[in-house]
Amino acid sequence: MSRAVYRYVAHTIQHAPEGGITAELFCTSIGCGESSGPQGDPETPQDWALRHTGLYPGHNLFRREYTDHARVTRADPTPAR
Ligand SMILES: [Zn+2]
Repeated sequence: MSRAVYRYVAHTIQHAPEGGITAELFCTSIGCGESSGPQGDPETPQDWALRHTGLYPGHNLFRREYTDHARVTRADPTPAR
């Protein structure tokens, strides 16, 4: 049997604005399945939704999905011994 010693180091996680935001809208009309595709500019999927409803008037409800980035950093870079 072997023994292992694990040392745990505290980390923090924070929003990382430098990673940007990705936005995507999905049409929720049954059988449609279309989406704006992931876009770096949140305005682009909204414009897509407006055009989509213009083409298909019954398709007027969208699921919006926004993602951001997070960075994990070590809480104490110089642990005490
Ligand atoms: Zn649709």
